[in-house]
Amino acid sequence: MITSDPAQVIIVGAGPAGLTAAALLAEAGVYATVLEAESELPTNLRASTFHPPTLQMLERFGVTDKLVSEGLIAPTFQFRDRFVGKLAEFDFGELKDVCSRPYRLQCEQYKLNFALKDYISGKDSVDLRFGTKVRAVEQTPDGVSATLSSGEKIFGKYLLGSDGARSSVRQSLNIPFEGFTWPEAFLVVSTPFPFEEYMDDLCWVNYFADPEEWFFLLRAPDFWRVMFPVNANANEQEIFDPSAVQRRLQRVFQTECDYEVAHTTLYRVHQRVAKKYKQGRVFLAGDAAHINNPLGGMGMNGGIHDAFNLGEKLAAVMTGTSKTTVLDDYEAERRPIALEYVNEITIKNKKNLETKDPLEQRAFRKMLEETTKDPAKRRLYLLRASMLASLGIQG
Ligand SMILES: Cc1cc2nc3c(=O)[nH]c(=O)nc-3n(C[C@H](O)[C@H](O)[C@H](O)COP(=O)(O)OP(=O)(O)OC[C@H]3O[C@@H](n4cnc5c(N)ncnc54)[C@H](O)[C@@H]3O)c2cc1C
Repeated sequence: MITSDPAQVIIVGAGPAGLTAAALLAEAGVYATVLEAESELPTNLRASTFHPPTLQMLERFGVTDKLVSEGLIAPTFQFRDRFVGKLAEFDFGELKDVCSRPYRLQCEQYKLNFALKDYISGKDSVDLRFGTKVRAVEQTPDGVSATLSSGEKIFGKYLLGSDGARSSVRQSLNIPFEGFTWPEAFLVVSTPFPFEEYMDDLCWVNYFADPEEWFFLLRAPDFWRVMFPVNANANEQEIFDPSAVQRRLQRVFQTECDYEVAHTTLYRVHQRVAKKYKQGRVFLAGDAAHINNPLGGMGMNGGIHDAFNLGEKLAAVMTGTSKTTVLDDYEAERRPIALEYVNEITIKNKKNLETKDPLEQRAFRKMLEETTKDPAKRRLYLLRASMLASLGIQG
């Protein structure tokens, strides 16, 4: 059944979270308007990891096979020491009894956005509007409105703020974004250098523990991406200075020639969770609701999981198959996952890699050794790293 205006959902932001929610509403034939500030979908480099449950969820839109064909299957991930090499390797293949895609997919997030946009365009009920920046949101007991920077007002029944970390929706509702900002910034350098041909046993996803300069080395379809922590107070000219970038890369693997550098990106990293995910008829999802460091690749994945949870509830309410009270469960089901599960894993991952304390370094290595040797511990670790455990899959 197609429900018509004014019984519609407004979605602010066409990133992975907003477009996933829009796809669910489109599938159910619910009228929704997606308001996106940019004039088109951006293609900048951001997340590159899709976890097993995310790939499974996206199957219903016919998107997963497309992403797999454009991405790189990474069945394993490693923790390594800069000097010793491989410390531990975990294989998602061990989870094939509980998921249909037992691997991480390394694929740029913009490819998901384009695939979801194509899916939505094939449906009649969702209107995707570019160049429409939302300035503020208001609500009454019966409905919501979004005021655009042009002054135009859009009316609806419910509104989803999936407008990223600096969410105007969250700010408009004065919802605190609690947590902290890490003191260092993260520099991501992309290079076509074939590390896998030179570094023993390297897989596509590698986290390097080092007390001087930890880093991660991930393969995306086109390039290797190396992420380094950098002094957030240093000026950007120093950070991006080509010889400084070369020095960092030479510490990853020493070469005779300079590395070819395809891109460099610098960003600040936070661990924050919105105090509320629902206020009246307005909801937050994705980075608007939670942000975390990228060690574990959980940010975008968690946002897509939010969108699935809420999108299904909104579709059921709008088509009359659920009572509106089901919407109250969204915050109770999703906020604790950001607050406890994702925060705990990503903070621990960072601390384990960066610690300068010899006792902590030994404890981390011992934990890895014990976990890889013990099948029950290894399975539990994999269930958490794959985010399956965050969705209740414990077996
Ligand atoms: C460099 C980098 C690397 C990352 N790596 C990883 C990774 O490996 N794994 C991982 O899981 N995550 C990673 N992340 C995080 C990941 O990119 C985000 O979690 C993800 O993009 C969040 O999706 P979203 O849909 O919530 O928000 P976004 O992707 O930020 O989308 C929000 C959208 O809202 C629009 N918008 C903003 N304000 C308004 C407004 N007022 N009105 C209308 N539209 C608006 C924006 O233009 C944007 O299109 C990375 C992030 C960065 C920056």
